[in-house]
Amino acid sequence: MSDNDVEFRTVIEPFRIHSVEPLRMTTAAERRAKAADAAYNLFQLHADDVLIDLLTDSGTGAMSRDQWAAIQRGDESYAGSPSFFVFRDAVQELFPYAHVIPTHQGRAAERILFQVLGGPGKVVPSNTHFDTTRANIEFTGAEAVDLVIAEGRDPQADHPFKGNMDIGRLEALLAERGAEIPVVMMTITNNSGGGQPVSLANLHAVADVCRAAGKPLFLDACRFAENAWFVKTREPGREHDTIPDIIREMAGLADGMTMSAKKDPMGNIGGWLALNDDDLALQCRNLLILTEGFPTYGGLAGRDLEALAQGLKEVVSEDYLRYRIRSTAYLADALVGLGIPCLTPAGGHAVYIDAAALLAHIPALEYPGQALAVALYETGGIRSCEIGSVMFGRQPDGSERPAAMELVRLAIPRRTYTQSHIDYVIEVAERVKAQAPDLPGYRIVDEPPALRHFTAAFAPIG
Ligand SMILES: *Cc1c(COP(=O)(O)O)cnc(C)c1O
Repeated sequence: MSDNDVEFRTVIEPFRIHSVEPLRMTTAAERRAKAADAAYNLFQLHADDVLIDLLTDSGTGAMSRDQWAAIQRGDESYAGSPSFFVFRDAVQELFPYAHVIPTHQGRAAERILFQVLGGPGKVVPSNTHFDTTRANIEFTGAEAVDLVIAEGRDPQADHPFKGNMDIGRLEALLAERGAEIPVVMMTITNNSGGGQPVSLANLHAVADVCRAAGKPLFLDACRFAENAWFVKTREPGREHDTIPDIIREMAGLADGMTMSAKKDPMGNIGGWLALNDDDLALQCRNLLILTEGFPTYGGLAGRDLEALAQGLKEVVSEDYLRYRIRSTAYLADALVGLGIPCLTPAGGHAVYIDAAALLAHIPALEYPGQALAVALYETGGIRSCEIGSVMFGRQPDGSERPAAMELVRLAIPRRTYTQSHIDYVIEVAERVKAQAPDLPGYRIVDEPPALRHFTAAFAPIG
């Protein structure tokens, strides 16, 4: 290495801007009125009333020049479109499963899979189920069980792979209720647990346990590339593995996957279900045709399939992943530096503020996460997402129970915001922290029977 090749401290965005979208400035008074109009549910805001939108990293990223070019190659043939085969090959390059079934989003893949494998009396373990996964399992009458390691439920515990499954608890569940378990899931990275990675060693151990018990293992693989980067940079002995090799090793340990292509595949829409079992694939394709479409497009346009195939090639770039993971950690480091308690170490796609710690005066069932999310919006126009008792507190029997953690997720859309946008977010968070003791809790005044966080109406208490 010559001196000029020594790495610089500043990790830059490995792209420059080609097309821009305006942001609309608002005043604090306007935002307070908009929040009240939305019944304090940030999902109900109009997005152009939001300045920095960190609600989700799902489908909100910027597509590349080459993805937009790929869109022009989209072939919209109903059956057998060449765009399907481009898509299938790009998926199988990383996830060599026999069957690749496109769906319009991840939750459509989940609905199809659990319509076949779920049902009353069944129980489906995971490290932590994502909200739509849990909802789709419970909708069939089955039970969804989270078995993440203890460190994964402690926001401040220091562990390189806080998304790992607790192998002992998985073995115990298989011993006790094995006959009721149709499939074991692993979410990589563990979104609801803070975007925390799963180690390859843990995935090997889970796969061994599943194989010994004769149970299929499926990945909920939305952030597979971010997970692979954490493996490469944190797991001993993995630093020389390539990202695609790590991904293929993860894929090879499982029997199939569900996928939201709105995450690491860099799409604005899309998903898939991929698996090896011929008979299960046949049943899933039959359900696909009922609601999604013919198996070579499955709820997507040919152009979407092309954009996703290109996105899969871009997301495995080490320059991209280094920037991606560093820019998330940059936000977390700054917040922690201000004394704002965050889930640490930072996850891949998002920073999670520990609202229970920051707003210790608000009880869990007065939703400290919701209180913080509303304050971030009213103060600086930042939209975030509560991941706590609003999202998970309501039980299938209608009762309420505090969630394991009260988090506010600042999800970072891919390739979308610059460092000065993030510096602004940090400044807003600092101001909210100063007001924290005065922020009110909330109560729910109206809610739907499932996935209430999307549409519930709230009112401040007092
Ligand atoms: C987003 C997501 C899903 C659901 O995917 P959609 O495309 O939003 O339907 C499932 N699991 C995880 C871990 C996710 O992040």
